[in-house]
Amino acid sequence: MQIFESIKSIQAFLSVKKQQGCSIGFVPTMGALHQGHLTLIERAKTDNDVVVCSIYVNPTQFNNTFDLEKYPRNVDRDKILLENAECDVLFYPSDEIMYPEGKDDSMKLDFGALDKVLEGEFRPGHFSGVGLILSKFFHIVSADSVYFGQKDLQQCSIVQKLIDTLFFDIQLVVVPTVREKSGLAMSSRNARLSNEGKEVAANLYETLMKVREMLQNGEDLNKAKQTGINSIKKYKEIQLEYLEVVDRKSFTQATGNTSKKEIAICVAAFIEGVRLIDNVLVFS
Ligand code: AMP
Repeated sequence: MQIFESIKSIQAFLSVKKQQGCSIGFVPTMGALHQGHLTLIERAKTDNDVVVCSIYVNPTQFNNTFDLEKYPRNVDRDKILLENAECDVLFYPSDEIMYPEGKDDSMKLDFGALDKVLEGEFRPGHFSGVGLILSKFFHIVSADSVYFGQKDLQQCSIVQKLIDTLFFDIQLVVVPTVREKSGLAMSSRNARLSNEGKEVAANLYETLMKVREMLQNGEDLNKAKQTGINSIKKYKEIQLEYLEVVDRKSFTQATGNTSKKEIAICVAAFIEGVRLIDNVLVFS
């Protein structure tokens, strides 16, 4: 695997590959890799000649400095995992490379209604930071396709809007969420949970599946949602931020009869001080 830390060096390498007619698949990550990330790499490898993974903990997408400081980092282990996954290129830039303009004074992006709800509402500025760093990466890597996990479903809509609005010539591929046996969605942040915390966290997925089943059986939307909220509130270890039933693309509240609509059930909660998110689609 080739490892690049500067923009010039990765671009020089990739321009040769492009001249040779290679297709490029790009997998942006914040490191502390797990099977969820590796599944994105696998999919990118299936679709492309060259796979580029980036590892960069992007400061502008953290609205909480404690979360940024505590974000798990283990790049030596990540490099081994990427080598084993036969990833072709790792881009591992520093803050100075990515934000020469200074990260506190960086450009802000507004995604309209899409970044005012759910993750956008509870993490002000988060999607602005996501959009900014991805715009930079898209220009640097100039890939044919970019791979994102369904686990961050709202982020996928943000990325599609970024691509459409700024005319990026790149295809978004969304890969299903990879889970632990317990159902807990894999996440780098899970490394900060105790074993008991992980057990409790599995109830988030169980609850999502319960609400999904109710909606599939034609249950009233508000009743299904309230049942989900009540079942999470039974656990004193879980501090619920939101559980919402929404349109899977616009993330506006779903209303009325949900049958045949593209609906997602999304949850965010803190366990042992760690913020976790998850979602399931109702009809998929
Ligand atoms: P992160 O390093 O958390 O920023 O995630 C990098 C990419 O991996 C994003 O596209 C995430 O949606 C994706 N990802 C994270 N966890 C999972 C998972 N459990 N299953 C599938 N994709 C995931």
